[in-house]
Amino acid sequence: MEKVILVRYGEIILKGLNRPMFEDRLIKNIKQSLYGLGKISVRRSQARIFIEPRQDDFDFENAVTRLVNVMGIISVSIVWKIKTDFEEIKKHSVEMVRNYMTKLNRHAAAKGPMRMKETSEASVGFKVEAKRGNKNFPIQSPEICRQLGGYLLKNVPGLKVDVHDPDFIFYVEVRDSTYIYCDIIPAFGGLPVGTSGKAMLLLSGGIDSPVAGWMMAKRGMELEAVHFHTYPYTSERAKDKVIALARILSRYCHRIRLHIVPFTEIQLDINDKCPEEHLTVLMRRAMMKISEKIAAENGAKALITGESLGQVASQTVEAIAVTNEAVRMPVFRPLIGMDKNEVIETARRIDTYETSILPYEDCCTVFVAKHPKTRPGLEEIKELEGRLSLDAMIERAIADTETVVIGE
Ligand code: ATP
Ligand code: MG
Repeated sequence: MEKVILVRYGEIILKGLNRPMFEDRLIKNIKQSLYGLGKISVRRSQARIFIEPRQDDFDFENAVTRLVNVMGIISVSIVWKIKTDFEEIKKHSVEMVRNYMTKLNRHAAAKGPMRMKETSEASVGFKVEAKRGNKNFPIQSPEICRQLGGYLLKNVPGLKVDVHDPDFIFYVEVRDSTYIYCDIIPAFGGLPVGTSGKAMLLLSGGIDSPVAGWMMAKRGMELEAVHFHTYPYTSERAKDKVIALARILSRYCHRIRLHIVPFTEIQLDINDKCPEEHLTVLMRRAMMKISEKIAAENGAKALITGESLGQVASQTVEAIAVTNEAVRMPVFRPLIGMDKNEVIETARRIDTYETSILPYEDCCTVFVAKHPKTRPGLEEIKELEGRLSLDAMIERAIADTETVVIGE
């Protein structure tokens, strides 16, 4: 018996002639994510990927924790690879189900004495699901289920058959080798990072922008990020928070180059020369222009922001139109139609939420207008922009940008 990891991927299958490119990238990303865990061989077979450790002390749990964050993967299972021989299958199935029952009981025990009593008295419902990929195997799938189910019932105490609402499913896949397992651990799906080009994420310290970046990484985009820092109005701590958020995002896309742009001069100049009600939109336009330049320098083909329609005054359709006019590159706003609670739910799922809600000062909260204009006119905004030496300030900001690489 050999313990291996089975990886399922989905959407890539639809990609026709590009399929090998997607699969190669997925395999590369898988290897990268498992880096440091030990020697492995990664093999593709019939729209599945098998990860076979080449050393005894391989940390399977850790590997699975990393794999579920690899975009393009639908689910993973830790499986036993055994010989395609029915006696072997029966023998190993009993051993695996016994182990699994011990694990279930341990979980129940951890939840308290009441639960343990329940599970030790009642039996655990299960069913067998068999797939016969190897048509030379003499027993057909329904018959495998019937015979193996009966054998398990007889040989593992505490089991009962429950085809409608089982506590667990015992899976058998008969191929050249046979694979057995009890757990399917869901991942995020999507496309492998690196198959959709690169984008520049405008990353603040808030809840929204990390989620926006994650959503585009899920569509296969490699990410770089830009953060605007208004030191000393915003603190070192605010910067550290953004670095922490980029580090969490790097779990999903391996590595992020984060460009930290000094924004104080621009911010103060806008503040000095323009009416308060237009501060945010002017500031946003400057951010977009700088981000577009940094994106072009680094081979990114689009910008990503965490804007959501109507969430704040600067995110009305009119304000977004004026902001958008500052750049030519496509701007992806994946949260545009999401409610705040949906965004928060995703932030929790991807583990950025707890970091995003840590207190910090953002340039938008330091220089905030009491009554921002919700329907700014482009002409008026451009006239105000004319009062600033924006091009020169943008040059200086880019020249003084500090770039940190996050992730291995
Ligand atoms: P977030 O939760 O991402 O901060 P938000 O709802 O608070 O979003 P705003 O603060 O108005 O919205 O910002 C809108 C978008 O502009 C952000 O989602 C982000 O993409 C970008 N942005 C805002 N502030 C910064 C900053 N300091 N550095 C980089 N990008 C920023
Ligand atoms: Mg914000």
